Amino acid sequence: MAEKNGGNQSHILVFFFPVQGHMNPMVQFSKRLASKGQKVTIVTTTSASKSMKTGSFGRNLNIELVSDGSEHVQQGSETMKQSVERVQTETTKSLVELIKKIKNSSDANEKYLLKFLVYHYSMPWALNIAREQGIDGGPFYTTPASVKTICYHFHKGVLKLPLEEPTKKLPGLPPLQLEDLPSFFSDPNSDPIFVDIAMQQFSNLNEVKWIFHSTFEKLENEVLEWMANQNLPIKAIGPTIPSMFLDKKLEDDKDYGLNLFEPNVECTEWLDSKETGSVVYASFGSLANLTKEQFEELAWGLYNSNHNFLWVVRESEKEKLPTNFGDRIAEKGLVVTWCTQLQVLAHKAVGCFLTHCGWNSALEALSLGVPMVGMPHRADHPTVAKYVKDVWKVGVRVKVKEGSVTKEEISACIRQVMDTDKGMEFRKAALVWKEWAKEAMAEGGSSDKNIEEFVAKMKLT
Ligand code: UDP
Repeated sequence: MAEKNGGNQSHILVFFFPVQGHMNPMVQFSKRLASKGQKVTIVTTTSASKSMKTGSFGRNLNIELVSDGSEHVQQGSETMKQSVERVQTETTKSLVELIKKIKNSSDANEKYLLKFLVYHYSMPWALNIAREQGIDGGPFYTTPASVKTICYHFHKGVLKLPLEEPTKKLPGLPPLQLEDLPSFFSDPNSDPIFVDIAMQQFSNLNEVKWIFHSTFEKLENEVLEWMANQNLPIKAIGPTIPSMFLDKKLEDDKDYGLNLFEPNVECTEWLDSKETGSVVYASFGSLANLTKEQFEELAWGLYNSNHNFLWVVRESEKEKLPTNFGDRIAEKGLVVTWCTQLQVLAHKAVGCFLTHCGWNSALEALSLGVPMVGMPHRADHPTVAKYVKDVWKVGVRVKVKEGSVTKEEISACIRQVMDTDKGMEFRKAALVWKEWAKEAMAEGGSSDKNIEEFVAKMKLT
């Protein structure tokens, strides 16, 4: 996988949050750093290791597990607050041990010097660990820059809730309505701890020299520029998807490689049997938990759209499927518990992606030129859906009535993307984004340059 290699290399730790959608971009960033000759150790916690299927990551890239104390806790016995506190206390101890071990290892005295800790933005306390151990650190954002900026405006008191007017124009952002804000601001039922967690990211953000974002300049141009003007050292380094779907520079980089779920292998054969652009791919990512009623509306919305569909229904959600749904759909639909999403999105049979607007899913669809039906679920999804529809103009967003989305609305949105001239425009726009995504990651592209700059700085420190 290595592109370049020379002397005087750095060793970089990449510490991620053990959830699929947060692991994937950080793993990809690690691969890019390794491909530029850095030694990278991906660090994650024991709570992920139980279900993690590790892959091969090639030269210069390895994984270490540190304890977050979860092995001593019975599942479901803690509140969210207790769990957050335990992870911080226990991980701090084990991360310090790991850093000391690496510093004392033979590599440290030879070629690779431990220099930097990249940490998931939700764990800003990791910066103190790094600095106390004599290395530098910086956060990695697995959410859009727009969402980070909305949080920033809330932190600074520029965004106040409830909104004084139906639409708010915040610096760097398009006009936003309440429904476009992350759900921890807009949903009155959301646990306030999520706002606390979101605000913690700013506790030491003005102390760091590097802030990495899984996005690319053209995609979030306005907001990235605005954040940079606030003296925040933001570096867009994405889209963080395997190289074989973008610049094809990293030969063996065909998938993310670290899976918490087992993909179903039937998908490709099934897709091969369908006509070009005839399939709706539907997935709500790794965490979404829809109500049984909403699940049924979704099932019939897909079915009644009169298009073929491939639907990911995770094992834990399967009981919400309508009775005998499998028999009813016959050849028209395939329901799987997990798939290799990138391969599916890249398949010519796929004509549209019905998505919960998780940040990775949206980036993947844009990078592969697939138009979307956005059906946001929670967290940052509403803001991503706003951008899909109104900023990138690559799809539609379902309308919510009294807290849910009807099957009629779902079918109508699918038909708009699959069957109309407007749908053709969405596809054309998505194909332009695909080229721009490739361009950003290719040698000399905006994201590639940012990664190069970081690597070059590491060599000098
Ligand atoms: N994914 C996958 N197979 C599936 C569903 C999802 O590989 O069947 C991957 C998808 O490619 C993405 C990640 O899981 O990289 C989900 O991340 P996202 O941010 O979209 O949603 P989250 O799971 O965080 O809500």
